[in-house]
Amino acid sequence: MEPTARQKMLLTPRRDVDVHDRERESVHPPSAIQPHGLLLAARCSDLRIAYASANTLEVLGVATESVLGLPLAHIVGDLSATLMASTNSPGSPVAPRRLTISLPKTPRRSLHANYYRHLDLLIVELEELREEGGWDRRAERMESVIEGLRIAETLTSLCDTAAASIRRLTGYDRVMVYRFHRDGHGEVIAEDRDPEVDALLNLHFPASDIPAQARELHLQQRTRLVADVDYTPVPVLGYVEFTGKRPLDMTYCELRTVSPVHIRYLKKMGVGASFVVSLIDDRKLWGLIVCHHRSPRLMPPELRVLCEVLGRIVSMLVGVTQRDEEFANHLTNRARLERLGEVMAPGGLVALVLADHPKELLEPMNATGALIQLQGYSRLIGETPSLEDARALMNAMQLRQAAGHLAYEAVGEALPEFAHLTSVASGAAMISLAESSDDGVLWFRPEVVQTINWGGNALEWNGLELILGRNCPPEPLAAWEQTRFGHSAPWTVAEIAMAQNIQGALTAALLHHAGLQAQLSYFDGLTGLPNRRVLLDRLARSAKSGPKPSACLIFIDIDRFRMVNDTLGHRAGDDLLIQVGQRLRECAGARHLVARLGGDEFVIFCENHTLEEGRVISHAIMRSFELPFLLSGKPFRCVTSIGLALAGSGQTSVADMLHAADSAMSAAKQRGGNQFVVFENQVHEKLLRQIQLEQDLFQAIERDEIHVHFQPQILVNGHRLIGFEALLRWKHPVYGDVSPAEFIPMAEYTGFIQTIGGWVLRAALRQIRIWRERFFPSLFVAVNVSVKQIAANDFTRTVQLALEETGTPSEALHLEVTESILMQPSAEPQLREIQALGVKIAIDDFGTGYSSLSYLPRLAVSEVKLDRSFLENVGTDERKTALFSAIVGMAHALDLAVVAEGIEEISQLDCIRECCCDGAQGYLLSRPISAQNAEQMFLGDWKDGLLLAS
Ligand code: C2E
Ligand code: MG
Ligand code: MG
Repeated sequence: MEPTARQKMLLTPRRDVDVHDRERESVHPPSAIQPHGLLLAARCSDLRIAYASANTLEVLGVATESVLGLPLAHIVGDLSATLMASTNSPGSPVAPRRLTISLPKTPRRSLHANYYRHLDLLIVELEELREEGGWDRRAERMESVIEGLRIAETLTSLCDTAAASIRRLTGYDRVMVYRFHRDGHGEVIAEDRDPEVDALLNLHFPASDIPAQARELHLQQRTRLVADVDYTPVPVLGYVEFTGKRPLDMTYCELRTVSPVHIRYLKKMGVGASFVVSLIDDRKLWGLIVCHHRSPRLMPPELRVLCEVLGRIVSMLVGVTQRDEEFANHLTNRARLERLGEVMAPGGLVALVLADHPKELLEPMNATGALIQLQGYSRLIGETPSLEDARALMNAMQLRQAAGHLAYEAVGEALPEFAHLTSVASGAAMISLAESSDDGVLWFRPEVVQTINWGGNALEWNGLELILGRNCPPEPLAAWEQTRFGHSAPWTVAEIAMAQNIQGALTAALLHHAGLQAQLSYFDGLTGLPNRRVLLDRLARSAKSGPKPSACLIFIDIDRFRMVNDTLGHRAGDDLLIQVGQRLRECAGARHLVARLGGDEFVIFCENHTLEEGRVISHAIMRSFELPFLLSGKPFRCVTSIGLALAGSGQTSVADMLHAADSAMSAAKQRGGNQFVVFENQVHEKLLRQIQLEQDLFQAIERDEIHVHFQPQILVNGHRLIGFEALLRWKHPVYGDVSPAEFIPMAEYTGFIQTIGGWVLRAALRQIRIWRERFFPSLFVAVNVSVKQIAANDFTRTVQLALEETGTPSEALHLEVTESILMQPSAEPQLREIQALGVKIAIDDFGTGYSSLSYLPRLAVSEVKLDRSFLENVGTDERKTALFSAIVGMAHALDLAVVAEGIEEISQLDCIRECCCDGAQGYLLSRPISAQNAEQMFLGDWKDGLLLAS
């Protein structure tokens, strides 16, 4: 039914917003679009149009009132409507797709469609295609752009190339790359422009207060176009019957109108049109490519798509280049550190050696001078204050240090009594070399009078918005200069880490030269890190100083470190430990204590830190291990397991907290390594139990805690008892019954399986010999053997001896092995030898691994025990029954007997009989019982050798 005019209504676009009302100026759903396109929104339920922009007459030749309520297919054609309707489902993230469509009424006209599903609507934005020179030319231009980007080696040249090539491609007057810095402030780092427009290059913008949802939007909508700042918004009409009076949520629309504030701002800047492409690295907004034009400029949709692709390429290259640069810096720093080591290697008094090699000590820190105070000597190198002033400054800093190092970039502000040193020592970075003495090194940097160019009046309005224009400058654009005195160039994170590494290298050299034993001192001789003693001391002091709001301990252990030592040698192992120590310092930052406990175990103690912050550091460590280490000049990758514990989470003593972090680390290792685990009491208790059980298992036999239980096996046809499976039982004095599924893997892991396996074998054989003699002479006993046992060379001999020792004939013994035996090619001859003894071999839990029946005869196997999982729904589910029957058939064809395990229902027994299965075992017939109980059964219910009345 066609809607009447009255049922349709116009949803008036919002009035201009108050430019000073920033709250309301956040991202809002406007009810109008820019005029260079057309918007339709259809209900997903029936694909009828619920909203349309008021310019349908101009674009499609149909009045908007007539479009509302129509099926979408009437406008875009059946095929396109069907395609669009099959877009992503509601609930999944909004992901716009693109399509070129021909209108059914005017098939020669092609339109570009951008469509996506949002809530219960399918939103379609249509724009005229404006081919400029065709795809061939564009593809060619794209190729040359990509080639240009590919050869850019540094971040700067990459951004320069990106700005220049996007300008060439799009023809905007100005294209700039804007980068967000870590503290949120931003900077124009590359610009390509028409000489007639103002330069914005190198302008800084204070930390932005862009609302979170605006950032979010740049993450989701990778391009944003304002074609003409003087545009007249086109209202969006809604079909009231479908929509109520609900305005359309246009969060994800490309054609959305732009805030009037932004428009006002752009106009003030002399900008007639703009286009923004997001740069995203590691799912974060890294920066933006911002294009400005003095006059209106409509980017054709095809070209916008290209720019979006380019934005993605640039984003990717930014990530790669950044990581390359990081690695290159890392290598340079390492080389510098090695050089410092070489200088000190021949020996001599460290202070004097260093004083003779000023370059080696200053260059790594990009410092101009230093005070070396070691072993009772004080030496100045490079440009420094007087010895007296330098020593006084060092003393003052030592009093304030937290973790053996400290850096200021405005000494005069931090310690006003040293303000007179500004010209040579605005910056000072210090390391201490022993907790108890004032040995250390202090580096200096001169004052750098800094001029920062801020865009606009940073104090009153946000500069970033100057570019993006979400807010309004009180005055027209005015760049202003700020001059800063009394500051040196800042100490970077990498430089602080370098200082700590030098601290390590110097400590190692001092220890070496002093011939001290590392255990007696405070530092680890290999890595130069504080040792266990320092850590325990710090933990104890922290505990004594009263309850802390929080403190966390991070325990780090390199995965498979032993392999490095074993295969690459101890020197490589040492080298790796030194580098790991350096990385951990870099990740932990200046405020935390990084200690080496010994071996490949390191601990970071973060005082006054929450678990969340501990997690952040742990993440950083895992990430830092993604960069390869260098062993003998070659990249070497390794990973680490990390355990995290929080003080006050139930542990009492210092040792407990260390233990907690340690056991969380062990849990991380148990879960496969390369991860971190936060300590929880359950994790701890589980581990404790495990360690305890592992230890106790060794004595379990002597203490008579281990017994064999027997579970009967019958012939399916006739229910005759034919033998028993021997199953181990362990009654632990504290933990009670421990399942073999838990302790057998432990025994395998510790190697105790050989002992316990031999014991079971003899116990089972002894018992079955007795029962054969007293009750039924053809009974057998099936003993489970672990693959580890078979892998031992003398297993056949063990079996033979056990048979002889107990006086049991070999046909009374079956051995059950699991499918994993197939992974052990060396087991093949062993199995054959055993079979030759007359012992039958069964594959246990068949169907849970990956083996194929066809391998088994080759392996000297004569029976398969089908896993319990095959019996689920057998008899009720036709497909399951058919599968079971097929397996039995195949096994028989290969001359293998089949036993079904875990029979619990009579219907299962009936069904497997139908399927011609040979043997059965399960709770229905009997649970595993002790030898004593079995004997009573022999005298009672089993007296005739039958288990169920047939
Ligand atoms: P398995 O060899 O597959 O043993 C059968 C398991 O199924 C036994 O568990 C048995 O108690 C259980 N079972 C038997 N009938 C039923 C039933 O109707 N329903 C259910 N739900 N379960 C049934 P158990 O005794 O806990 O043994 C677990 C596993 O430990 C054994 O699996 C075997 O792999 C291993 N194991 C036990 N004893 C030894 C041993 O002496 N040496 C070695 N290497 N492994 C052993
Ligand atoms: Mg078994
Ligand atoms: Mg089994």
